[in-house]
Amino acid sequence: MREFDYDLFVIGGGSGGVRAARVAAGETGAKVGLAEESRYGGTCVIRGCVPKKLMVFASEFSGLSEDAGLYGWDVTGGAFDWGRFSTRLNGELDRLEGVYRKLLSASGVDTFDCRATLKDPHTVSLANGEEKTAKHILVATGGRPVRPDMNNADLGMVSDDIFHQETLPKSILIVGGGYIACEFACILHGLGVEVTLYYRGAQILRGFDEEARGLIAESMRERGIDLHIGTNIVEMDCAGSDDSDTGMGGPIQDTGETVGDSGMSHRGRQSGDTSDGPIRVKATNGSSRVFDRVLFATGRRPNTDGMGLEELGVKLGRGGQIEVDAYSQTAVPSIYAIGDVTDRVNLTPVAIREGMAFVETVFKGNPTPVDHALIPSAVFTQPELGTVGMNEEDAREQEEIDVYCTSFRPMQTAFIGKPDRVLMKLIVSKANRKVLGCHIVAPNAGEMIQLAGIAIKMGATKEDFDRTVAVHPTMSEEIVTMRNPVRSA
Ligand code: NDP
Repeated sequence: MREFDYDLFVIGGGSGGVRAARVAAGETGAKVGLAEESRYGGTCVIRGCVPKKLMVFASEFSGLSEDAGLYGWDVTGGAFDWGRFSTRLNGELDRLEGVYRKLLSASGVDTFDCRATLKDPHTVSLANGEEKTAKHILVATGGRPVRPDMNNADLGMVSDDIFHQETLPKSILIVGGGYIACEFACILHGLGVEVTLYYRGAQILRGFDEEARGLIAESMRERGIDLHIGTNIVEMDCAGSDDSDTGMGGPIQDTGETVGDSGMSHRGRQSGDTSDGPIRVKATNGSSRVFDRVLFATGRRPNTDGMGLEELGVKLGRGGQIEVDAYSQTAVPSIYAIGDVTDRVNLTPVAIREGMAFVETVFKGNPTPVDHALIPSAVFTQPELGTVGMNEEDAREQEEIDVYCTSFRPMQTAFIGKPDRVLMKLIVSKANRKVLGCHIVAPNAGEMIQLAGIAIKMGATKEDFDRTVAVHPTMSEEIVTMRNPVRSA
């Protein structure tokens, strides 16, 4: 007879939680339960990577008819129909959610479509009134987007709301300079929305290689995105209301902005909001402008509120993230945590790796720490940024380096007179010639960096890159043909 109802109870049905549950059940015969309060697939599948990438594809068609014309085709462009796209998108998300459910049931995992909290180190309380005991509990509850702490912030959307808009706005202000802000700036611009971006720092995409950040910012501006760095929102209010009621004060210096057909989704507007209309925003640069919508892409917070974790002795960090060791174990031995809720590296494939390592450690008797070194990733701006390893600035702090870098106009768009540039950059250790970092700004850089990532993870040296014959004519051949460093530091 079992001491507990389950060997493993997983809280959260996103990429990490589902993978851990089904591998534990399917490959080790463990009895597994899983609770999900929202939709199976989590942030990545339902309101993140997957719908975002489909929107990237949709947005990339906008310039195609013009480009095709310059290549000699007789084509006429048409308008983008958001309704048609979002119907298909929702159908695809329903299909994927079904796949996730099927994977769980095929592995014999019991699922509970409700919220779960912790009662004691071996018991979860379900919102349907049931309680389940488990030898191990895995918290994989992910994170959620947060708005800044300011008056009327509820007037703005967050990334979750993007996919539920009934219509696209004519104009949008995006606040933030991270992955989500930059990706949606490019996507929405490609779909025909007038995009303004306010970022409070000196350059967007903090943490990435400076040259790469610079080229992305330049490309965004060239495409027509109104990018303001060193700028943040001071106040916001419904543009329809009398300014004397808004508490915004101060002179309105720039009132010539568009107020288009909004069709605002109500999802971004909650407590106390009575208006669907455009939003007036006062910025730190003194301007006051009106936008149909505002999107806060100002970071995410781990979903740990009200789960009973701290009461049991699970340690949380300042941002609310669960603190875990290299094996994803919390301060309470029976409780583990993986994915964004631990705020280590917040990427889907990393959560999946953490889930697999957890199963290996706890259910296969093979203690496996998670390897967070040299994780390739991509920012799906236009052009994309693919990156693995250290940026030049961090590498310089660590050791002496040679920097190999080239920036050029790629054949495909140079042919039709477009100014687009791409960048290929390698950071190389002077001491052992190992490639410490690779940064690519180019169309499909995400695809390229996956492959470069294998060589770099294997410890390839610059000379290994040099020994590799170029594939001609491609953009990526430049990564093996850079002979001399552009600088050493
Ligand atoms: P990020 O943490 O990357 O960026 C948040 C941005 O908001 C930063 O530019 C930050 O500025 C700014 N910000 C924070 N607080 C405020 C504020 N009060 N007022 C104004 N600006 C503010 O978060 P994201 O939401 O973009 O992405 C979250 C995570 O999701 C990423 O770190 C990534 O791990 C993951 N992700 C990955 C993707 C991919 O792999 N392609 C795509 C999307 C998300 P500052 O720089 O000054 O702190």
